Amino acid sequence: MKAAILYGREQVRIEDIQPPPLRPGEVRVRIEAALTCGTDLKVFKRGYHAKMIVPPAAFGHELSGVIYEVRPRLEVQRPSSFAKDSEDKQSKVQSPKSEEGRGARVEGEKGETQQGWKIGDRVVVANSAPCGECFHCRVGQENLCENLLFLNGAYAETIAVPARLVQKNMLRLKPQTSFQDAALVEPLACVVKGIEDVQLRPGQQVLVIGAGPIGLMFVALAKQLGGDVTIAGRRAARLAVARKLGASRVIDVGPNTDLVANVRQAIQQSRDRSPGRSAAEAGEGTSTVGFDVVIEAVGKAETWEASVRLVRKGGTVNFFGGCPANTTIKLNASLLHYSNLKLLASFHHTPRTIRLALEFIESGIVRADDFVSGEAPLSDLPALFQSMTTGNQAVKTLIRVRE
Ligand SMILES: [Zn+2]
Ligand SMILES: [Zn+2]
Repeated sequence: MKAAILYGREQVRIEDIQPPPLRPGEVRVRIEAALTCGTDLKVFKRGYHAKMIVPPAAFGHELSGVIYEVRPRLEVQRPSSFAKDSEDKQSKVQSPKSEEGRGARVEGEKGETQQGWKIGDRVVVANSAPCGECFHCRVGQENLCENLLFLNGAYAETIAVPARLVQKNMLRLKPQTSFQDAALVEPLACVVKGIEDVQLRPGQQVLVIGAGPIGLMFVALAKQLGGDVTIAGRRAARLAVARKLGASRVIDVGPNTDLVANVRQAIQQSRDRSPGRSAAEAGEGTSTVGFDVVIEAVGKAETWEASVRLVRKGGTVNFFGGCPANTTIKLNASLLHYSNLKLLASFHHTPRTIRLALEFIESGIVRADDFVSGEAPLSDLPALFQSMTTGNQAVKTLIRVRE
């Protein structure tokens, strides 16, 4: 089969590879939708990601498709206490209330507990699954699992899904859910986590910094949850999408400008135009413009620092965008203290937010139409990533893995 293999910095090749044989508990998924992602772009530029992908390795991680091969789990002789314990833990992450029937476990042959996956099932697979046993998994912080198992290889005709991912983070799609929509589950699950972490309440003034796919997903979700959303970002096409997704204010920050001054000026202007509007008035007369919540979805030291100057007293900043390794930022300690700021950083997703993300997608709140701006055949992937390093405007691109 054809697959994109990452070899190192800006080195991706499309190769004919032998699909690996399935191990017990694994399934093979024929990929129907694979999407490009900012993380993949980062990996492409850097050549690796210490946790997620070490080359040479199959590339890409946002996917959905159809199961076309299943290898049942073998019956393994285990001490009965261990078996019971580990099954219990699995059921905790597998059975959120709204998930009846999705990935439901049935009794397989010989009484072995298996999930009821079969050939032809339409599924979405997350890009990782937690172990369920380490400290962080036990305290409900599976996003921080010490042994997260990552899955890459979305830019390929098929993918072998490891047993742990099959058990914990592979979800069945409703018949009417499109593969493109479903492939948004992974990034959206991270955004769901980010929104939960800031405890957004209806009516709050939210500033999203960054108009990439993640920033745009924050706009859609914050709007859906009742926030009044302002976005500050670049590239007209992406800002137009933000407007469509419900941003009430769109600030084009342009190249090399002072973000804080730019946002303050735009807010001041909108206040002048409609004085009655609660356009972040909380900051009036204080040293900050005053958003209740600021979400940084860029991943640069400058924007992390700017975020803190744009939140109101008592407000919350989510440093969501991951900066390059070893980045440090400077913060004004007095501002933090006297403004009683809540600063936090969200990372990755949990099995629960993966399921919530699919619910947002299946209820039509987040749709691929708003995020996928083009299509490309697998053979064009290396050139596509090259163009993404130099300002390709697409939000996300759908990769056609079969030609
Ligand atoms: Zn992604
Ligand atoms: Zn763990």
